[in-house]
Amino acid sequence: MRAVRVPAFMAALLLSASAAVGCVATIPFREMPAHDYVADTGEPLRIVLTDETGPDPAWHGAVAGARDAFAAAVPKLRFDAAPADAHIVIVVRRYTDAAPPAIDGYRFQPGVGGFAAVYDASDKACNFPPSPLPLNCSGEIARAVIYLNDAIPPGPEIEERRLRLMLHELGHALGLTRHAPTVDAQALADRYGW
Ligand SMILES: [Zn+2]
Repeated sequence: MRAVRVPAFMAALLLSASAAVGCVATIPFREMPAHDYVADTGEPLRIVLTDETGPDPAWHGAVAGARDAFAAAVPKLRFDAAPADAHIVIVVRRYTDAAPPAIDGYRFQPGVGGFAAVYDASDKACNFPPSPLPLNCSGEIARAVIYLNDAIPPGPEIEERRLRLMLHELGHALGLTRHAPTVDAQALADRYGW
């Protein structure tokens, strides 16, 4: 039984990475939870996660750490898929408030930590206008773009804060709608039928 809920999508606030843990929810779907992925089969979910944050290594540890944390907690996730075989293709990019990404239907507010833009197999947005669920997005997640804001304040534990942000956004990219820096293995299992 999959509950269809209207999630309150929000960008992650820089200082709220450990707050705002609301009800567990995932992006609902009509037929398939990911591109060419049939739920309840127990098949591994094949993912391509590409770090496109560039040669500056600032975000590299967080991207790899979040990937490893999800892989360790959820054995069904396979992050080593070839692009042609992938159910979900995720790229990770960085940006600055001075030059925020331009994506149709979403406005980057200065100071937010980041945002995960999730798209279905028809490339319709699943978690921001103009395609609010369940009107347009089928819920069949095919790709996501994670945007990480370089405005993250320097200081103690910056690596941990980068990791928490990336964990939060990677969860969104896989269909979680909660705002939390945790790996919700049960919610993923429920959504994909493991
Ligand atoms: Zn969030």
